[in-house]
Amino acid sequence: MSMLVEGTPPYVRGTFQQTCGYCGCVFSVRVPGRIGYEGPENYYCPECHKRFPVKASRAPGVTLISKRCDGRKANYPDL
Ligand SMILES: [Zn+2]
Repeated sequence: MSMLVEGTPPYVRGTFQQTCGYCGCVFSVRVPGRIGYEGPENYYCPECHKRFPVKASRAPGVTLISKRCDGRKANYPDL
């Protein structure tokens, strides 16, 4: 079953590459958007799980590109 919904279709607000400031890994982020549905969302470093806020219509997807290089094993201490 499908239903037509009024409004704008989802789109990609942006894709970018990021280096985690805590663990040094590199990952790509794909930020989904949809006009009228956008608000504060979070995405997380795929290695240490440090949280990053972003404006999006739902939680962005992240893909690890290169592993962390800080020599630690611990997750980011998110208090
Ligand atoms: Zn990290």
